[in-house]
Parts: sequence; structure tokens; C-alpha cells
Amino acid sequence: MITLALSKGRIFDETLPLLKAAGIEVLDDPEKTRKLILATNQPDVRVVLVRATDVPTYVQYGGADLGITGLDTLIEHGNDGLYQPLDLQIAKCRVSVAVREGFDYAAAVRQGARLRVATKYVAIARDFFAAKGVHVDLIKLYGSMELAPLTGLADAIVDLVSTGNTLKANNLVEVERIMDISSRLVVNQAALKLKREPMRRIIDAFSRALGQS
Ligand code: AMP
Repeated sequence: MITLALSKGRIFDETLPLLKAAGIEVLDDPEKTRKLILATNQPDVRVVLVRATDVPTYVQYGGADLGITGLDTLIEHGNDGLYQPLDLQIAKCRVSVAVREGFDYAAAVRQGARLRVATKYVAIARDFFAAKGVHVDLIKLYGSMELAPLTGLADAIVDLVSTGNTLKANNLVEVERIMDISSRLVVNQAALKLKREPMRRIIDAFSRALGQS
């Protein structure tokens, strides 16, 4: 049995065409069922639904053989025991710094003031500001980051931006792009050895669908 860990929503939806290219069709709609293990038309392939941030954990410890998750999540989790063979070019966005409209970010950075930065992406933010030599106090949040500069909790946020509409709707402006993000296929290294044939079939089909082989 091959187990693929996916999160509901954008990643699940954008993975379906890749699965189809590998001849795999998921038999349940995750938005309609309460099941967490979904069968596919291939008797030896199943999908497990987990939180995006748990995908690397499932794959690392062998709860799933393969998983798909954003580069942001992988950087925050660390790469231990995970083989990352493919950039799937899906769920694309960027990690950016944003501030309240009217906040002089450039001046704050220039003056060497300690910046209060709220984010879910603590590792990415820490590395980015350290490389710039900017002193920051990081405040870990789990959601609704946009609220932090509006309520005075923080001067800036580090968050995912796609169209920019969420920032605009909350009177925030993007002041720095930290990195581009897309979803990656991650593979459990032991599973790749023990289930080499069926695993390679899926990885190669994804790769062909992406035009990378
Ligand atoms: P947008 O308004 O299109 O800029 O989208 C920004 C909101 O969607 C933020 O709350 C992000 O956390 C979330 N978001 C955007 N792109 C992604 C992605 N690829 N994966 C997960 N969340 C995302």
C-alpha cells in the first residue's frame, strides 16, 4: 500500500490533475466526506488528509510514504529524513513582509530600531532579518496575521501573499518579498527503498506531467 498525505483545499485541488496523470483518481470528495483516509481507483494507493503543517511529520515518520506541502511548511519543519524530488509548481505564492499603510518601514530599518514582527513563519523570518542585520522581536501567531499591525501587536508581519487582496483589504502594504513558494513532493526515504517500484511509478508520472523528464 502506498499512502499519500495531502491537505484539503488548494493543495488537494491542484494535486488532482497530477494524480490523474499518474492514473490515480481519488474516489471521495474531501469537502463532502468526513473520512480522513480516501480510497483511490488504484487498490494499492490511498490518500490521507492531514493539516498542511503535519504533512512533513507524517512523511518523516512513515505515517505516509509521500506527501505534498508548501516550501514554507518544509522550511519551518526542517528537512530531516525527507527526500524532496520534485517542485510541483502548484499553490504558488510568496512570503513577504507587510506593514500598516503609512508605517515608514524603510526608516525603521535604517534607524536600526527593534522591529516587532508577527508571523507563523518564525524560521523564515528569523533567517531573513538576521541576513539583513535587522534586530527583530518575533511574535509567533497561528493565523489572522493581518490583524497584528492593525491592533498594535506588531510593526510588521511575515505572511504568504498570493494576489495581495487580503493585504489590501486590511490596509496593509507589501514592503519586501522574502521568497517564492510552491508545493513540493516529499518522500520517506525508507519507503523509497522498500517500495521502490510503485513509488517510482508515481514520482515518474508526476515528473512527466510537469514536463521534467
Ligand atoms: P491573497 O489575498 O491572494 O494575497 O492570499 C493571501 C491569503 O491566502 C493569506 O492569508 C495566505 O496565508 C493565504 N495563502 C495565499 N497563498 C497560499 C498558498 N499557496 N498556500 C497557503 N495559503 C496561502
